[in-house]
Amino acid sequence: LVIDYGQRHRREVDAAVRVCGERIPFRILACPQLRDVLGRGCLTTDAPVPLGHYQDTTMRETVVPNRNMIFLSIAVGHAIACGGTAVAYAAHAGDHAIYPDCTEPFVRTLNAAITAGNWPPTPQIRAPFLEWTKADIVRLGAELAVPFEETWTCYQGAEVHCGACGSCMERREAFAGAGVPDPTQYA
Ligand SMILES: [Zn+2]
Repeated sequence: LVIDYGQRHRREVDAAVRVCGERIPFRILACPQLRDVLGRGCLTTDAPVPLGHYQDTTMRETVVPNRNMIFLSIAVGHAIACGGTAVAYAAHAGDHAIYPDCTEPFVRTLNAAITAGNWPPTPQIRAPFLEWTKADIVRLGAELAVPFEETWTCYQGAEVHCGACGSCMERREAFAGAGVPDPTQYA
């Protein structure tokens, strides 16, 4: 399920579609008006994206209020509608300090709410990377032959990755830390 929420980095929608390709069935949910009601930080307004490593104050600029819970809720509804048993959520370690919704208590509590709020059997959110670093994930991705060159990380919506925003910095460090060649073209 690919969600277009009017994000500045719409490139990630195209990237998701390319990664799915012919092999993985996908649906695109277009709700760009979410930008109008969730617009606050730099991902859903025209405010500049902070450059450099994430710090508490700059990271908060990149938070879209309650985004992950909204998206996961939609995804769970979609899973129920099509008979799915699980929703995959790729939150990972490293986000924890700033993003409360990338933690085990959030996932556990949300699963309890899904169980309480729906008839069984209910799908559950699976978040296998909660304790993994991005370098761990790159290592696994290399083993699985993930087409990294098709993936998108940058918070800016330019033609190529900027290489300088917090998200790009983490991407570069993840490849370096994993010892995997980084095929990304950076500005
Ligand atoms: Zn960037």
